[in-house]
Amino acid sequence: MNYCDLAPPYIRAIAPYQPGKPISELERELGIAGIVKLASNENPLGASSAAVAAMKEAIKTIALYPDGNGFNLKDALVKRYDVTHANVILGNGSNDLLELAARAFLSPGDKVVYSAHAFAVYALATQAVGATGFSVPATKGYGHDLPTMLKTAKAKKVKIVFIANPNNPTGTFLTPDELLVFMRGLPPEILVVLDEAYNEYLPKENHYDSVVWLKEFPNLIITRTFSKAYGLAGLRVGFAMAHEQITDMMNRVRQPFNVNSVAQAAAVAALRDVSFVKKTFELNRRGMEQITDGLTKLELEYIPSFGNFVAFRIGNATEIYRRLLELGVIIRPIANYDMPDWMRVSIGLESENAKFLHALKHAIGEVN
Ligand SMILES: *Cc1c(COP(=O)(O)O)cnc(C)c1O
Repeated sequence: MNYCDLAPPYIRAIAPYQPGKPISELERELGIAGIVKLASNENPLGASSAAVAAMKEAIKTIALYPDGNGFNLKDALVKRYDVTHANVILGNGSNDLLELAARAFLSPGDKVVYSAHAFAVYALATQAVGATGFSVPATKGYGHDLPTMLKTAKAKKVKIVFIANPNNPTGTFLTPDELLVFMRGLPPEILVVLDEAYNEYLPKENHYDSVVWLKEFPNLIITRTFSKAYGLAGLRVGFAMAHEQITDMMNRVRQPFNVNSVAQAAAVAALRDVSFVKKTFELNRRGMEQITDGLTKLELEYIPSFGNFVAFRIGNATEIYRRLLELGVIIRPIANYDMPDWMRVSIGLESENAKFLHALKHAIGEVN
């Protein structure tokens, strides 16, 4: 018998998430060291030393189960964001929270809206529970078309709308005014998951406070992560803020110990280390300029990005990707985001960015 047939059709239809290639894998394949990975929007500075110290301390009690309620981390978040404990839910990465929202609120046949070229997990989380996703075409510059998403959400009577701001892999940004118009037009029984994984990278002039919106919009779920600006991607820790009835439902479907004790301790320390996040932000600004200048010199079109990565248009993307791997540089083709002529590069250290640009120039010369 074929055991795949035992799974529901909507599970069999899932195309698995394609992660960036790990450095260790390319090392095994090529037998070379010194590989630069700019493929998963990781923090090139690593983690804050305060977070690392907290992890070492937490290891001492690793034989014990974690606090399943995550009190200390929630408490730190409550103070930072001026919400209550009941408004916060922790996740094994914010990916976990996207799935918990889907699992708590969607039944097979329910409907969901997200944007074309938006983070792949929205479609995956939707499909995994047998719900139907509507991908709304991006109109201008690959960003979310919120007016059409609003119309679609109402017309199809969807349960959840996923919005990424800034979006990955396009780096596009929605202004708070655009978001507010959208939220105010939406019936309160439609939930909005506002994924702000790159919030800390927003330039000052684009800063906005979505957390205060929770008072006006009880249907809003804000997700954040410690994986990007906080440099803790390997630990897997994120959080969501929402109305307590929403976190209540999400809590019912989460694993009792979904965030490990080391991650909880590290996240508390990382949250306090404001200067590390500032350093990360500044490095990213400089690196973004370095990479976009380099792309311009190579006459490559790119999408202005508000995150720690940038998407650029290039012919023969698959060939270029392969050639870059041989040159020891891992970036990300995004054909699976319906952008076959584009690639995404994460912003690294100055030397990594330079190595990428050098290798890219070389690859273009060879392939085209
Ligand atoms: C990286 C990313 C996440 C989640 O990352 P976690 O490591 O699971 O917290 C969520 N949304 C977007 C848009 C991302 O790019």
